[in-house]
Amino acid sequence: MTKPVVLDPTRCDFVKKDGSQCRNGAGKGTEHKGQGRCRTHGGNSPTHVKAAARRQVMAMATEADGDPLEVLMKTIRVAWGAVPWLQEQIADIDPDEGNTKLFIAYQQLYGEWTERAARFSKMALDAGVAERQVRVVERQGELVAQVIKTILDGLQLTKAQRSLAPQLVRTALLQLEAAT
Ligand SMILES: [Zn+2]
Repeated sequence: MTKPVVLDPTRCDFVKKDGSQCRNGAGKGTEHKGQGRCRTHGGNSPTHVKAAARRQVMAMATEADGDPLEVLMKTIRVAWGAVPWLQEQIADIDPDEGNTKLFIAYQQLYGEWTERAARFSKMALDAGVAERQVRVVERQGELVAQVIKTILDGLQLTKAQRSLAPQLVRTALLQLEAAT
């Protein structure tokens, strides 16, 4: 009989025939890096991807103290709200007019939120949420963007005031994500 090994949680949890644990880092070569099996040991199989997504959702929910999937869906809504709004801001800026700093700020935020939005939607699908349901929440997020745009456009801000917008919108969206 092989003696039971104490598994290192930072490594892939596959145990070889000789009783030793796989040497790869947890989730190595998969999209759930830091969690579960490595690519060699089935880390990319649908079951493992799903399990890893569920664990990530659980970790998020523990922080937010709510139903895991509900928390995730709210996160998706906010993230997808930020993306189209940022896209529009970038399109509106003429970098030749000395708006380079603002342009870069929006570009960075756009990259950040696009990545978030896509990652959370994928996480929901991986965790077993129906695609139709995920799309509905994404659409709700786009409506949030529409509201922000209407307000900011209506204010007819000066250039200096406009430059404050990205940070304020970011803060407001994060608050919405935490509160709704
Ligand atoms: Zn492994």
